Amino acid sequence: MLVRVDGPYRVAEVPRQRCPRCADTGLIARAVGHVAVDECPGCHGVFVTTAVLDAIVEDLALYEEVRRGFPAGPTRAEQPGPMYVPCPTCREIMNRRQFAPGAGVVVDVCRAHGMWFDACELPAVVDFIERRGPEAMRAPAPAPAPRPVAAPPSLASALTEPITSRRRDSLAAAVIELLLFWV
Ligand SMILES: [Zn+2]
Ligand SMILES: [Zn+2]
Repeated sequence: MLVRVDGPYRVAEVPRQRCPRCADTGLIARAVGHVAVDECPGCHGVFVTTAVLDAIVEDLALYEEVRRGFPAGPTRAEQPGPMYVPCPTCREIMNRRQFAPGAGVVVDVCRAHGMWFDACELPAVVDFIERRGPEAMRAPAPAPAPRPVAAPPSLASALTEPITSRRRDSLAAAVIELLLFWV
């Protein structure tokens, strides 16, 4: 059921989507312009699907919507509770990564479903993209440094195979590849 609260934003409870940090709290769908993100009413973290992240990155008008709807503030490298938390959609443990080099924001990533932004991280990321421009996110990752011959093969393949074999068919996927590359 859609209800109207908190200014122009419509909200609706998302069935079965639980907050990764507050396990008992259901996420609430929240409109950001013409797209929707899933917010936790407890900790104000936000889950953004890959498609919606594409839309936000590419639409300047949505930057302002994000800033209007999600208050800015200091972001924290460490969050209370477990460091690694489950994807709200598939419950697989997400990876913690810098959003992009220089962004100064550590996000939790499910490669299949999207990114979790803790409170204040989404507006911080929007500010970063605005400063650097979406082109900075599309730039191909630099060539990897030569690896020692003695590097464990499993590590080398884990680092290179997902990047070279996956199609860069969406900007958010490219962003995820980029930040996976940089760890
Ligand atoms: Zn929460
Ligand atoms: Zn997932």
